[in-house]
Amino acid sequence: MIKILDATGEGSTEILKDILDRGDKESSDITKSVMEILAGVEKDGDTALKEFTKKFDGVEIDDFLVSQDEIEAAYLQCDEDFIKAMKRAKDNIWDYHQKQLKESWITNKSSGIILGQLYNPMEKVGIYVPGGTAAYPSSVLMNAIPAKVAGVGKIIMVTPPLKDGTVNKNILAAARIAGVDKVYKVGGAQAVAALANGTQTIGKVDKIVGPGNIYVAAAKRLVFGKVDIDMIAGPSEVLIVADETANPRYVAADLLSQAEHDVLASSILVTTSPEIAKEVAKEVEIQTKTLSRREIIEKSLSDYGAIVVVKSLDDAMKFANEIAPEHLEMAVKDPFSTIGKIKNAGAIFLGEYSPEPLGDYFAGPNHTLPTSGTARFFSPLGVDDFVKKSSLVYYDRKNLEQVKDDIIKIAQKEGLDAHANSVEVRFE
Ligand code: NAD
Repeated sequence: MIKILDATGEGSTEILKDILDRGDKESSDITKSVMEILAGVEKDGDTALKEFTKKFDGVEIDDFLVSQDEIEAAYLQCDEDFIKAMKRAKDNIWDYHQKQLKESWITNKSSGIILGQLYNPMEKVGIYVPGGTAAYPSSVLMNAIPAKVAGVGKIIMVTPPLKDGTVNKNILAAARIAGVDKVYKVGGAQAVAALANGTQTIGKVDKIVGPGNIYVAAAKRLVFGKVDIDMIAGPSEVLIVADETANPRYVAADLLSQAEHDVLASSILVTTSPEIAKEVAKEVEIQTKTLSRREIIEKSLSDYGAIVVVKSLDDAMKFANEIAPEHLEMAVKDPFSTIGKIKNAGAIFLGEYSPEPLGDYFAGPNHTLPTSGTARFFSPLGVDDFVKKSSLVYYDRKNLEQVKDDIIKIAQKEGLDAHANSVEVRFE
């Protein structure tokens, strides 16, 4: 089911080209229909939301707002142990993100010159939470908590209604635990349009975060600029680097936990040991038989999974850095000694007792991570994503006079007389 590739003669990711070139490709048809949805909501507000919800979700909704009573009832109906686990996860996520908070700073560069930077949270943020089979309460925590820690004034969540017009109870319970202010039952591109423009019932936000299907991703891309967005999440991926000391059962289990997400998910093992490669492939076959999402796993592994045998740990790290995986697991004898060699990765998991689900749900770091090689320039979602910075400048008369000629010279070179004049006028 999972292929073994020999890259002992090569050091580059060429061998994985077909695997890496994956993902939902937005067609011009999708862009066109999403543009129509955006325009419809911008023009007709709630009326358009109702029409699109009927058309795409097959349900008539009169009032999109989920009442506090409904949220409370959902919370009380949830399994008690699940609520306790979610609260413990929340505490860890909160603690971790609090370490990311930065303080405004101000500096007295020299007498009469003060410079600084102010940090201010965004006022309103919208969180998209997918519906359907991908209703993940953990995503509610991961998107809302950094915003809360940043001090965002209002967090608005949108999520598609179920066929009976209600919302997934676990999602509502997670919203209550995370401290989401308002929940609306609307999904797809129409929900993104509502958050970006505002409607009669849904307030306009400053930023939209959260994963979604191809329509949601296209809508986020199109509203970017009017509002900020987090990133366009592609299908999920893991790259495991293993040496001869790795436990093949654990490595196989971790490849499978990634593959069950989606047929487009990619699970790659890069190993220095041909024996481990064979044993992991065998374990993958054995463990897959017992898993409920077996069909998705088999498709994902045969299309986008691979075990790559390389010559050395250095070659394995080169592979990892070129692929820039969303999740990187280091199943090697001394994982800490490899940290300095990792250049591109969303989240790094060290050693055999740090499997990816620990980070997905519980340890504290965010699980909204850059996918499809974008870890070369994107970072995990965090407090910074919900904060704006403003710069601060103060010069007294004496200090401005000392630098006025430089400013005037640059302004004149740019042909901006009024800029030069704004300085000159103060010394006439
Ligand atoms: P979704 O909420 O993203 O999309 C459902 C909405 O799509 C519906 O409300 C509907 O309005 C709209 N829609 C459906 N068909 C349409 C059409 N033909 N035209 C216009 N709009 C249409 O839920 P989903 O579809 O279950 O997808 C969830 C996605 O989120 C998956 O791709 C999953 O992989 C992804 N996901 C990613 C992460 C991550 O962290 N990367 C986490 C969770 C989910």
